[in-house]
This record gives sequence, structure tokens and C-alpha cells, in this order.
Amino acid sequence: MPFATEVLNDPTIPASLRQQALDRIFTDPGLPPSFTTSSFWLQNPQKFEPKEKSLPEEVDIVIVGSGITGASITRTLLQNGASSPSILMLEARSICSGATGRNGGHIIETADEYADLADTLGVEDAKKLLRFRLAHLKEMLAVAEELGIAEEAQARKVQFLSVYFGEGPWKDALERLRRFKEAMPEEATEWTSFEGDSIPKDFLLNRARGIVAGPAGALWPYKYVTGILAHLLEKYPAQFRIEEHTPVLAIYDDTASPTPTYKVETNRGTIKARHVIHCTNAHVSHLVPGMRGRIIPVRGQMSAQTPGDRFPCQAAAHSWLFNYDRGFDYLTQLPKGQMMLGGGFAHGEHGGLAELGVATDSEMSLYIDIHLSGALSAVFGRENWGRVDGESVQAMWSGNMAFSSDGLPWVGRLPGAATRRAENGEWVCAAFGGEGMVQAWLCGRALATMLLVGDGMLVKGGDTDLSWFPHQLLCSRERFDTTELLRDVVDGSIP
Ligand SMILES: Cc1cc2nc3c(=O)[nH]c(=O)nc-3n(C[C@H](O)[C@H](O)[C@H](O)COP(=O)(O)OP(=O)(O)OC[C@H]3O[C@@H](n4cnc5c(N)ncnc54)[C@H](O)[C@@H]3O)c2cc1C
Repeated sequence: MPFATEVLNDPTIPASLRQQALDRIFTDPGLPPSFTTSSFWLQNPQKFEPKEKSLPEEVDIVIVGSGITGASITRTLLQNGASSPSILMLEARSICSGATGRNGGHIIETADEYADLADTLGVEDAKKLLRFRLAHLKEMLAVAEELGIAEEAQARKVQFLSVYFGEGPWKDALERLRRFKEAMPEEATEWTSFEGDSIPKDFLLNRARGIVAGPAGALWPYKYVTGILAHLLEKYPAQFRIEEHTPVLAIYDDTASPTPTYKVETNRGTIKARHVIHCTNAHVSHLVPGMRGRIIPVRGQMSAQTPGDRFPCQAAAHSWLFNYDRGFDYLTQLPKGQMMLGGGFAHGEHGGLAELGVATDSEMSLYIDIHLSGALSAVFGRENWGRVDGESVQAMWSGNMAFSSDGLPWVGRLPGAATRRAENGEWVCAAFGGEGMVQAWLCGRALATMLLVGDGMLVKGGDTDLSWFPHQLLCSRERFDTTELLRDVVDGSIP
């Protein structure tokens, strides 16, 4: 069952509270708030501030949102667009201050989901979806190398350790691993497992019942995205512009225009565009009202913590996923030692239900703070952790994710039923849940390719192959018509 539906259907939570969550989900998420909790990733690096210019009157393409999705789409459009399309990226706040500037920076696909996907989609489609997600690690690290930003963005390959503490969940994980390895032996070569006495002592995970290990990545997401955007601004100065602190307030279709054109209204004026691409994550349904009840904002929480003095730095070696009786946490370590721990969702109010339908990052959950602040010395064991010198929690902040009602991202041209405007030039690339780092980059590439091909703008000999792209992620009228959550809790559940 998709994540949001599962939480909404939790029978241990009173139906009235679940109804309140549904009411939030169907409410306009609004614009990103100007007051935010303070993300560690955004506090420290040199700020990337593109020069503000006056807004152009007209461009080919407006990209709304400056996170990883917007960056990926822009790169493909500029690299593969034949007729030098003019592109304007509009960002409501400062560049990359949404989920991408607030996340865990963890590029992880454990393949744990393979078994569920195979049961629901069939083996071949499940393999294709998994291959698509797994491809992100190599791809994102290669982009960092190519642009020379790998060191600055601390982009690195590590081994993930997915740690289980209980007997039941561990047996279940082993079975899931077996099915993945059997179905996808080539892709699974780096996956392995350890249990009981076979768990290496230097993992410092004495309390673990078992561990699944495989390849993963870690990076400083703000530096990664701003490194890419800076490169594109330098390489395509006549074609590409970014304007921050410029929220898109409304979109109108220009009925007077002979070709389909949109008027994009901002706080600084209105721009005409042939295409508008919504890369606005949890805020998507502010401008695309038909997506309410299909794309669901969910608040997540992250922390930066100081390691104990007995814990050796494993920044270049490992990242972690801790699987509990309820919920999970994820962790990477920075080369300077900080432990970047996120998660705690299930420890939030009403098993996390209170985080559903929340599209603001100006506050955070006290219960999740309490969980995250105390988790590390417990999972590694106090004997391995030692004492913390100075502040144990350096920063704690929130961010907003977008989950879809069917559990998959939405990528492609939006139907008029979703925008309530003329159908043709509005596109969406959103709803990556808590796994944007293994979905957003290639979804962005696919969307940009679809747009260039559809508009006859693809560079001569350009790559039109999208056979690698899972069709379940596409926007279709049929998907639109069948995926809206029911508006009310009926007989205790949300069908
Ligand atoms: C706390 C947290 C931890 C996470 N950890 C991980 C992780 O470790 N690994 C992983 O794979 N995924 C993780 N995720 C998910 C991942 O961060 C997201 O899926 C991904 O960053 C989404 O990228 P995006 O570019 O689509 O959206 P965003 O980065 O949110 O960018 C959207 C941008 O649109 C702007 N915007 C919105 N509305 C408007 C408007 N009307 N006008 C102009 N601009 C607008 C916003 O200000 C924002 O900057 C995490 C998410 C959170 C919140």
C-alpha cells in the first residue's frame, strides 16, 4: 500500500484525526513560507545568488522551482534543445531552499521494495523500475565528476548498511533480498548480508540482528544543485536565467494568442511562455489545483549531530538505514564528522499522521526531535559512541516532501483537468516521496526529452530513446481519473 494511504488507514488512530489529515491534504498548500527552520546545508556554504535582472516579457519555457528536479530538466533542455530555447527558472525563496536544500543527501536504493513491486506490477515492470532508480547513483556521481564539483559537493560512493534489530523484520528483509538477487543478479552483485557473529566488529553495530549492505551515495545537496546551475548559467548566458524571490502567483492561458501561450504572474510582473514546467514538489497543487488529493505534502525532519569521541569517521565508507519496530531513520556522515540523521516519522504525533498534509517548513515536530536527538548513541551502543564534545545536536530542521496517492512520481504533460487551463504546454515533474535522490534526476531528463521531442526542438541526432523510462510514472488522463484519494474516511478507512 502506498505510504500516505497506509498512514491514513492506520486503524489505531481515531477516524476524526485521519479526517483532519485528509482535510489538510485537500487544502491549497500555498506558496513556500518565507520563515523557515534553519537547514545545516544552507547555513554553511557560500550562498549562490544569481544576479537579479528585470524580468523578460516572453520566454520559451518557464521552470517553476530550483531544486534538483528543476536543475536536471534545465540541463537536458539546454544540452539537447536545437533552437536555443530561452529558459527562465523562477524560485519563490532563495535558490534550492526547498526539500533539496533540506534533505538527507542520501542516494540510496536498497532494492528492498523489489518484492512488493514485483507482486503489484509484475516482474518485468518491477525490474525496469528498480533499474531506473538504481541508475541514479552512477549518473549523479558522473555529473559531479564531469562538472568538477564532486569535491565541493562531497559527492561520494559509500556502502549502505541497512540495519535490523528485530528477528521478524530481519527474516523478512532476508527474503526480500533473496527475491531481488534471484530476479536481478547482475544489478545485485554488490548486495550482501551479515547476521549475528558475521557482522564485522568495525561496523560498531553490536545490537544489530542483521544487516543488508549495498552501494549508495552521499552528497551536500545544495552544493550539488547550485554547482550545476552555476555551470549552466556560465555556459548558456544568452539562453538561461534564474530569478529568485520571485514566486509564481498564478498562471493563465492566453486565449488571445494564436499559439498556446501561458501568462505567468509573479510578484515582479507577468511573463509569457509557451511551456510551464512545475517542479514545485510539495507546493505543486497550489498552481495545479487538480493534483490535490493526488500529490500529498508531507513534512520530514533532519538533524546534524556531533559524533561521540569513540566513533571513528566513516564518511567515505558507509551510510546507514536503521529499521525499527515502527519506522526508520537514515544517516550519512560528512568528512568533517557531522552525523546527518533524518527520519523519525513514525515517532511523530499520531504515528506521523500529524505530518501529512503539511507543506510548511517553518516548524518541526517535538516528538521527532526527541527521537532523533537520542537515537545515535543507542543504535551504535554507548560503548562505541563515547562522550560528545560540545553541542550534540548542531542543527534540527524540517522540509516538505510530496508523496503521490499511488506511490509513484508524476512526470509529463499535465491534463487540462489537472490545471483547469488549456491543455498543451504545462508539465509536471514531482512526487518523489522521501526518495528524490534516486528518482528526480532521471525523471527530469525524461520530461525534458518529452518536451523537446513533442515541440520539435530536439537537437539533430539527439537522443529520443525513452525506453528506459517506467511508463507508470507518466501523466495520463486515465491515471489522473483513477488516483484521487477519497475525500472522506468511510467506515474507518480511506479506500
Ligand atoms: C527532511 C527531508 C529529508 C529527505 N531526505 C532524502 C534523502 O536522504 N534521500 C532522498 O532520496 N530524498 C530525500 N528527501 C526527498 C528529496 O529531498 C525530494 O524528493 C527532492 O529534493 C525533491 O526535489 P524537487 O526539486 O522536486 O523539489 P524542491 O527541492 O522542494 O524544489 C522545489 C522548489 O520550488 C519552489 N517553489 C514552490 N512553489 C513555488 C512557486 N509557486 N513559485 C516559485 N517557486 C516555487 C520551492 O521554494 C522549492 O525551492 C528528503 C526530503 C526531506 C524534506
